[in-house]
Amino acid sequence: MWAKINIVFGFLWLASKEIGNCSRNHINIIISAVNTILASPIEYLKGVGPLRADMLKKELEVFTFNDLLQHYPIRHIDKTKVSKISDINFQTEYIQVAGRLMQFDVIGEKRARRLVAQIKDATGILELTWFQGINWVQKSLYVGSDYLVFGKTTYFNGKAQMVHPEIEVFIPTKMGGAAFLEPVYPSTEKLKARGLNGRQLAKFTYTLLQQLTPNDLPENIPASVLKDLKLLGRYEAIAGIHFPTSELHFKKAMERLKFEEFFIAQIRLQLVRLQRNTISKGVVFEKVGSNFNDFYQHYLPFALTGAQKRVIKEIRQDTARGKQMNRLLQGDVGSGKTIVALLSMLLAADNGYQSALMAPTEILAQQHYQSLTSLLKEMPVEIALLTGSTKTAERRRILKGLQEDTIHFVVGTHAIIEDKVQFKNLGLVIVDEQHRFGVAQRARLWTKAVVPPHVLVMTATPIPRTLAMTAYGDLEYSVMDELPPGRIPITTVHRNEMARASVMGFVKEEIAKGRQAYFIYPLIEESEKLSYEDLMQGYEQVKSFFPEPNYLISMVHGRQPSDQKETNMQRFVQGNTQIMVSTTVIEVGVNVPNASVMVIESAEKFGLSQLHQLRGRVGRGSEKSFCILLTGSKASKEAKERINIMCATNDGFKIAEKDLEMRGPGDIEGTRQSGALNFKLASIVNDKGLLEKAKEKAEKIVEQDLYLDSTENAMLKNYLSSQQLKHGWSKIS
Ligand code: ADP
Ligand code: MG
Repeated sequence: MWAKINIVFGFLWLASKEIGNCSRNHINIIISAVNTILASPIEYLKGVGPLRADMLKKELEVFTFNDLLQHYPIRHIDKTKVSKISDINFQTEYIQVAGRLMQFDVIGEKRARRLVAQIKDATGILELTWFQGINWVQKSLYVGSDYLVFGKTTYFNGKAQMVHPEIEVFIPTKMGGAAFLEPVYPSTEKLKARGLNGRQLAKFTYTLLQQLTPNDLPENIPASVLKDLKLLGRYEAIAGIHFPTSELHFKKAMERLKFEEFFIAQIRLQLVRLQRNTISKGVVFEKVGSNFNDFYQHYLPFALTGAQKRVIKEIRQDTARGKQMNRLLQGDVGSGKTIVALLSMLLAADNGYQSALMAPTEILAQQHYQSLTSLLKEMPVEIALLTGSTKTAERRRILKGLQEDTIHFVVGTHAIIEDKVQFKNLGLVIVDEQHRFGVAQRARLWTKAVVPPHVLVMTATPIPRTLAMTAYGDLEYSVMDELPPGRIPITTVHRNEMARASVMGFVKEEIAKGRQAYFIYPLIEESEKLSYEDLMQGYEQVKSFFPEPNYLISMVHGRQPSDQKETNMQRFVQGNTQIMVSTTVIEVGVNVPNASVMVIESAEKFGLSQLHQLRGRVGRGSEKSFCILLTGSKASKEAKERINIMCATNDGFKIAEKDLEMRGPGDIEGTRQSGALNFKLASIVNDKGLLEKAKEKAEKIVEQDLYLDSTENAMLKNYLSSQQLKHGWSKIS
């Protein structure tokens, strides 16, 4: 049993990338696993040596033979193809031509001193230029001979030339031989200056591959999967991505390696998910009791939507079966996630457990606290707010209350998962609007109770399915795809700065009807000061259109002390002020149903999901709402596209897909550090199909063989532990 548990934690540890606390038995495996040729330091490769090795490490993070194998080419050049010189134009990059060397000239002085040669074929003349090794080139090439010349063409004084071409004697019979694609590797200027250009890297890789046998690159995908998907074996694929024998070989190699990346990641996630499901005990919420029922019957302010009911049912099932729940709840802005959280907390209370609700900002925590307090005012549950700015005495009271279980619900920021906060009986943790809560943080919750609490993660806006599969693949998955009834769709328009007066006029009309409005300014990332000045300027401008005492304005920004933020927020929530001027601190979760206009200043500076989030602050009541995107005149093409999308749809799921497409996964908030997205070749945007397949296969494998004990999965298991240990190893050394 111990061994099994160790594996589980090993994989958990692996998935969370929390390397460092390497236990004894991990180290044991390290030694056996890295004792292969691939783990050899790069200096041991023939032709590398200590100096070049240093450069490779510094510049490319190539430490071992294996790292070199994974330094993949950016493209391949078909060197069997000989072009005509007359084919060269401004678009030409790398090209190969054959012709007669016509003449040599050394021209220029000092640093501009260079050797210029001309090569002529039946169609034209191309200039070749060398800045270095002039004597050597002159000695080894002969005017009047025929050469095969390969390189990148550039234009100098309007004339095509090739600087430092690769050049060899042209032997016509060589043409039409076996197709051979030569890899081009990413290198750096520093490396090139030391002669470590892409060509040299190709040589190293070639040398290395010559040295390896298929045994050195053991398979990590089970045979049945390879067969089923007609994938290349690992050795053949790695050879093929570097030195393909044909276009097809390259394509197949790429497919196999991309699949492998997805597959390995999915196996890890599924191991975490399913092993946790199997062995981890969870607190049992066996009954629905008086808290839930009383609230549901007497205090629920509206009928639940179908989607809300479905999700609550899923949560009830998850929490009743004696296993820990780990669920991701995706819902669009305004789909009503808060009430789902509240009902789950009541369910916990019915079974004698405490709950924690965690929000990413103080403002949001405050607001959750207030809405929960007012919803629960007739209920016999004690609720507290704990954030970074909770005063000492109050904090002490709360910590004590949590330890003694006199406080049942705690709402707060990250402060509530600090080590100091101990619960008597924590049964449920809900993470709201949170993209920054990765596997590692989730694992931390396990220390909060003997039996780990159930975890419900609620996203602020939808995230694309592929992203959810990779970044949250260890979680069960719920979607709320239905908005509460009676919502009138928000109308979104784009207005130029020039139209400001008419925009203000429109806002005035809305305010005259009794509504409220937001004006949001971008946070300028590089400079808090700039953001602040921007906001202040905006504030003055808004004030000039909406003078006191007819209009009252709240302003909230990051520089205010939190009690001041809170007061200003509250004045707007209560309707004492008609206008809220703010930076994006307001972005997340804020709920003022009477607000019907959202004006976003410099909208071109916002990302799509942020725009969608902001827009979600209106359209929460029964009135028609508007979102006005104001831009200056010079928005980039992408910015215009974002704005067009915003004007075209209110559907957060669609917007999320578009956002991912436009920005790529690396930039989607909070996922960068997830580790689950560090793919070298595969892309969750372009290789969706492969990802789906990888997930399907991985799920099936782990479902059937939870500890990968079967012979069929032995190689995969070996590979996983060697990888795990490779990371641990590099940290140790
Ligand atoms: P989000 O999913 O963005 O967190 P909230 O939980 O803040 O959404 O809910 C948005 C608004 O919709 C709130 O004013 C809430 O009271 C209201 N709401 C939630 N569920 C329903 C429902 N089933 N019927 C009517 N209004 C609802
Ligand atoms: Mg919310």
